[in-house]
Amino acid sequence: MLLRLLAAAGLAIAMTTAAPAQDAAPAAAPAPGWSFAIHGGAGTLERSRMTPEQQADYRTALQAALDAGRAVLAGGGSAVDAVTAAITRLEDDPKFNAGKGAVFTWDGINELDASIMDGNGRRAGAVAGVHTVRNPILLAKAVMDDGRHVMLSGKGAEQFAGEHDLAIVAPAYFATDHRRRQLEELKAKNLSALDVEFKFGTVGAVARDADGHLAAGTSTGGMTGKRWGRIGDSPVIGAGTYADDAACAVSATGSGEFFIRAAVAHTICERVRAARKLTVDGKTETVPLTTEVLQGIVDGVIAEVGEMGGDGGVIVAGPDGKPVFSMNTPGMYRGRATSDGLSEVAIFADE
Ligand code: ASP
Repeated sequence: MLLRLLAAAGLAIAMTTAAPAQDAAPAAAPAPGWSFAIHGGAGTLERSRMTPEQQADYRTALQAALDAGRAVLAGGGSAVDAVTAAITRLEDDPKFNAGKGAVFTWDGINELDASIMDGNGRRAGAVAGVHTVRNPILLAKAVMDDGRHVMLSGKGAEQFAGEHDLAIVAPAYFATDHRRRQLEELKAKNLSALDVEFKFGTVGAVARDADGHLAAGTSTGGMTGKRWGRIGDSPVIGAGTYADDAACAVSATGSGEFFIRAAVAHTICERVRAARKLTVDGKTETVPLTTEVLQGIVDGVIAEVGEMGGDGGVIVAGPDGKPVFSMNTPGMYRGRATSDGLSEVAIFADE
């Protein structure tokens, strides 16, 4: 019911703004322009727990990744290329839990997961449990471009990487002292993966390019102390990542088990797809999606994750307007930019 009201509200706004002033040939709808958003993980990011220097470091890193994607889109590049440009940058930055700086498993190694989806044709690629591929998002993209499979794991994924001209590194490349200390703390205090600094640090990006195509990607080291080949939501298409030109593009971060169970990324896109359709007298039309309607849908799904016991957030790019964020944590490293000149990065939920 709420969704129907939101969709109707979106239509009402669309009808008032689109009403022609006089009888004239209807002008073609203006192109919505490009839009872009990134995240660097959600969690207990509170002002009191971060020094001004730490905050500034994160903001600089987020801005650099945002600018990398923005440059691709402003230059007429594709949504997929903007997503990979930003994510490779974040993977190379040891501050984030993806690529270099990934968290450690219980066995003291780094196991990386990533996925990417092109909303144009719903092509997708994903990898899980890789140890030697410098940029797992590029491996996910190679899987997508190859097209035979969607998801590869472990040794097989690495063998595939070796056949596809991707940078291979020694497993030690990913290790940082900071993440090793987190593992030691978890073991010493017998904590669960969620208790060690409740900060996720996964990275992701969503984009709409100038041609209206959408894409989403996510990359992570998963959770500190993960065992038994545990795989979270990030490489699961429909959970941590989803893109469909007819709906939206989503990248998630948070307690992956809940995001898988709620099929978060796909659920958001299906609700968006439904909100864009209006049937009158048996004829179904696609109606514009306002930012308010999109935000309402996304907040609703994150609230459901919270009711299940999960924490985290998402970034979402829709077919029109600017990207939106939603989180049920005190903060999420994030940024967004549009062809209209919007460019902002933020950390805390109240920003
Ligand atoms: N969602 C990731 C996972 O569960 C963790 C994160 O977002 O940092 O593997």
